[in-house]
Amino acid sequence: MITTLTVRADNPSALTLDGTNTYLLIDADTREALCIDPGPDLDAHISHIEDLCAEHSAHIAAIAITHGHPDHAPGALLLQHRSSARLYAHGTCAVPHNVDVSDGDCIAFGSAHVIAVDAPGHTFDHLVFYEPQGRALFTGDVILGHGYVVIAPPGGAMRPYQNTLARLATEFPDALRIYPGHGEVITAPAERIADYRAHREQRERETIDALANGATTIPEIVAKIYAQTPQHLWPAAARQVLAYLLALEEESRITSQPLHRQPTPAETAILAPNWARIVGSRDAAVVEAELGSNNTQELRDYHLIFPPG
Ligand SMILES: [Zn+2]
Repeated sequence: MITTLTVRADNPSALTLDGTNTYLLIDADTREALCIDPGPDLDAHISHIEDLCAEHSAHIAAIAITHGHPDHAPGALLLQHRSSARLYAHGTCAVPHNVDVSDGDCIAFGSAHVIAVDAPGHTFDHLVFYEPQGRALFTGDVILGHGYVVIAPPGGAMRPYQNTLARLATEFPDALRIYPGHGEVITAPAERIADYRAHREQRERETIDALANGATTIPEIVAKIYAQTPQHLWPAAARQVLAYLLALEEESRITSQPLHRQPTPAETAILAPNWARIVGSRDAAVVEAELGSNNTQELRDYHLIFPPG
């Protein structure tokens, strides 16, 4: 038997929802625990994890991170230092770790284990963990408790992300729970994964429709698709649109060229906002990691190669 406990970090924001979920999986036989995503390096949060472990007479045997983003991973180094457990991460993860994890690898704690699934898309160093006894998926930022995930270039890419969702649907159709990196536990995994896949397909259709209806730049596409969305979320939407456009261009379904003019202030507010000023310096690092660097993004215009109809 495995007991799964949640410790929520005190780092709420638009992108981290109520804060990062840290999970503690305790093997009932041996009292050995696996900690997934110790979160940001907040001392109080790490102490909560340790206290919860002590309350359950358990000790941390292993630490695993779903991906290297600053709201998931830095706490792992703190917890590792204080527990001397081994730290497991994707082979390409920039966070220093003890064990490179590849697709299909097992991470053991006591007599229990989770199986790693290579899950690129939100980032390329992303892993999902499957715990077979409870048929539970620990999805990090691949699937959230509510809302949808930001897929932002260059750290993330749309087609790999869609392939990851397809793989989760195919390989884990009988999963009972999803423990997401942010938000509440999901008790109908198959429905949620299907909803996530449909949402991506719908947004892509909307992007193509916007191009067919005369939008040519990312700010114009965003204004069409996200007309009902509060404008302070448009910069995140712009990164999302870019991810679709890059995929479509790679598939030779659209072309793009640089527009040789400076962006207007309204375009700059969407394409390259000053995050530190908008969300404060504390959250700016997380926002920049989640939404990708936009400093180098020139204004381009995009056209369908074969306009529909
Ligand atoms: Zn992330």
